Amino acid sequence: MKKSELSPNGSSIENLIRQSVKQHGSPIMLIRKSVLEKQCHRFRKSLPQVKPYYAIKANPHPEIIKAFGKLGANFDVASAKEMEIVLNLKISPHRLIFANTIKSIPDIQAAHKAGVNLMTFDNEPELYKIAKHAPRSRVLVRIKVGNAGSIVELSLKFGADPEHAAFLLRKARSLGLVPEGVAFHVGSQCTNIANYTQALEISAQIFKEAKEEGMALNMLDIGGGFPIRHFDREEQLEFEDIARQTRKELTRLFDKKVKVIAEPGRFFVGPSGILVTQVVGRAFRNNKNYYYINDGVYADFSGTIFDHCKYELKTLRRGQKFLSTVAGPTCDSLDIISLTEELPELDVGSVIYVKNIGAYSSASAVPGFNGFASAKTILV
Ligand SMILES: *Cc1c(COP(=O)(O)O)cnc(C)c1O
Repeated sequence: MKKSELSPNGSSIENLIRQSVKQHGSPIMLIRKSVLEKQCHRFRKSLPQVKPYYAIKANPHPEIIKAFGKLGANFDVASAKEMEIVLNLKISPHRLIFANTIKSIPDIQAAHKAGVNLMTFDNEPELYKIAKHAPRSRVLVRIKVGNAGSIVELSLKFGADPEHAAFLLRKARSLGLVPEGVAFHVGSQCTNIANYTQALEISAQIFKEAKEEGMALNMLDIGGGFPIRHFDREEQLEFEDIARQTRKELTRLFDKKVKVIAEPGRFFVGPSGILVTQVVGRAFRNNKNYYYINDGVYADFSGTIFDHCKYELKTLRRGQKFLSTVAGPTCDSLDIISLTEELPELDVGSVIYVKNIGAYSSASAVPGFNGFASAKTILV
């Protein structure tokens, strides 16, 4: 490595990266606590009447959960294992929602035993399971809503037909469960405001229908989906734009007494993460520089596949850029992070880093595939 690359100069982020590589080596996932706080604060500021439940699947690292716990957030968990991660941090079960509409019986039993009594469902057979194994639970019916324009579809597998929602809630009540209200998810990385406004309209209709049938609903869960910026220079709808509209619609459509919650994942943790890798080998093939780095799509770049995400690859080098390919360390040709990147000339040991990669990255890594570890998470 050229000495200059790891000696201080440039932005504070670059200096943080240099210092961290010197101290810990690589690959490392730096999670900036100040950014976790900032995102939580942005959410609260723009949606003051909405209680956030951080969806831990975006990044279940205990230190991140602890940080959000201290900031007063609640948590969305989807399995007994996720529940255990949160409860082991001495967070009260009353701060959790079990927001997977299809739950195994042992997982429902685990929730009941632990005292997690708020859950979502979207079908009748699930209600029988909940009524039997977690009697008296509070339930939200998750409805199917439009996901158009969201990067990750979350309505293909889940969601009751809105026309059946009131019926399902009545059914829940007849089984001794507490019908709390309605939940939806507009799809992840949603930049289509209409997804939110339409889902709110549909939900309000269900509230009205339920009321006419003598069943007052108390809770609305507006899910996650709030988008972040993956590239520094990117024209994109901001969270604040969505929040402003959502807030207006909530006021217009729902009684003040209705408790509104949300399940942000990506928005809470994505911007805090900086993945720092190093070049382990280089070659010249097909008229391009090929750089092989020590992290790839089987590990912290797993979002390339599962999250349909494209990342902005940055280096600590300045100078003329050349067409390059950046690949991960495994023997699989699928393990290519980018076929065409404009990058300066790099050497073995040079740093390649990515910002805004805190969500759906390390969380979906395949541990140890081909003998390559994923990045160590470090809160800074
Ligand atoms: C994945 C998921 C979330 C988080 O979604 P983001 O788009 O990351 O905010 C919230 N709720 C449920 C039910 C989910 O499946």
